[in-house]
Amino acid sequence: DLGGAGDSLELPVYAVGGFVRDLLLGNENSDIDVSVEGDGIFFAETFAARYGCRVKSHIKFGTAVIVFPDGFKIDVASTRLEYYETPGALPTVERSSLKMDLYRRDFTINTLAIRLNSADFALLIDYFGAYRDLQEKSIRVLHNLSFVEDPTRVFRAIRFEHRLNFAIARHTENLIKNAIKMGFLEKVGGRRLLNELMQIFKHSDPIGAIQRMAGFGLLRFIHPDLVLTTENLRVIEEAKKVITWFDLLYLGQRVENWVVYLLALTSSLSDDRFWKMCTRLAVSEHYREKLIELRIHGEQVLEVMERRVAQHEPVVPSEIYFWLAGLTPELLLYIMAKSGNDDVKKFVSLYVTKLQHVASSITGNDLKALGLPVGPRYRKILDRVLAARLNGEVLTREEELQLATR
Ligand code: ATP
Repeated sequence: DLGGAGDSLELPVYAVGGFVRDLLLGNENSDIDVSVEGDGIFFAETFAARYGCRVKSHIKFGTAVIVFPDGFKIDVASTRLEYYETPGALPTVERSSLKMDLYRRDFTINTLAIRLNSADFALLIDYFGAYRDLQEKSIRVLHNLSFVEDPTRVFRAIRFEHRLNFAIARHTENLIKNAIKMGFLEKVGGRRLLNELMQIFKHSDPIGAIQRMAGFGLLRFIHPDLVLTTENLRVIEEAKKVITWFDLLYLGQRVENWVVYLLALTSSLSDDRFWKMCTRLAVSEHYREKLIELRIHGEQVLEVMERRVAQHEPVVPSEIYFWLAGLTPELLLYIMAKSGNDDVKKFVSLYVTKLQHVASSITGNDLKALGLPVGPRYRKILDRVLAARLNGEVLTREEELQLATR
């Protein structure tokens, strides 16, 4: 009972932002954002003590997260005024009224608030015409300097447009074009840019949003040479198909879809440029190395498979297995998307659905028990046994042991 806690502290409490927007649109959204007119951290601590929750607070920002015992979270903010001292920088925070707090938001559709206190409970507060814009399915900024203040909003506008199936309003679109022309997008920090891209790529169908980004000329802020070519677009469309296919297999393996889309979008960049792009996006050094390694490895495997198909000789399952073993699901999906060859797709599909789950029953300990001298030869023997198992040449443990001693 958030409102009750507000009542007892005599603090006005509101549900705000995306939660209210989605409530009115009938979309699911379990991210509840609460705004308190007053000390939000004190409110969160009082509420948490009453209901046995934990609180994590950021005093600098006047915000807190209430964490329930089952992990459910509520974000609490003190109504506040943020100053962006330079475009793209983090804001400086000061306390203010609900209206001022809502005024600093990105788009009108995110400025709705619902009162939670018992007096006027559930009152819908709409200072900026948000309700009308929800009805008109319109993405509109609150003022002309919005994108100058925070250029990442350009990406957010595109994300909301496609996720909600809305349209960016004419004037807002002109402001976006202007912000791009004036070079403000260059000021977006790499981390924030990556974050926005991830949000766009996490959508089940990001293709429209990617085309929209390309239309605005935004891809060059990811890398100066990045453009949407017919080939890129084909890989992205294939990526969508294989991701859907993979999801329907219910293998219980987690796939970061956004990685597949990022690889697909940038498939035409050279390794060197891909590396520069990762640096621009502030991908951590460790992960950057992993990504580039994966990408190079993936290209090599793809080449080997395509060459092998071109030879028109039968390919046995063990070959496929050893080409693909150890590749992450993201890379497997990327390879499927990138290859225009149906046979290569079938190989990867066979690996994903069947071969990757095959194992032989014997281990190094069995080889020791057979009296074979311990050494690097073990790896070779075990691989040979596994290959025979994959190709259906041995079917039982006894046959495997026999093969090992041969
Ligand atoms: P989602 O369902 O994708 O989480 P959301 O609206 O909750 O949508 P968030 O990115 O979680 O989006 O942001 C929460 C709220 O904070 C938004 O409703 C928005 O008003 C505000 N917000 C977030 N980023 C910005 C920004 N760059 N500029 C202004 N307001 C922002």
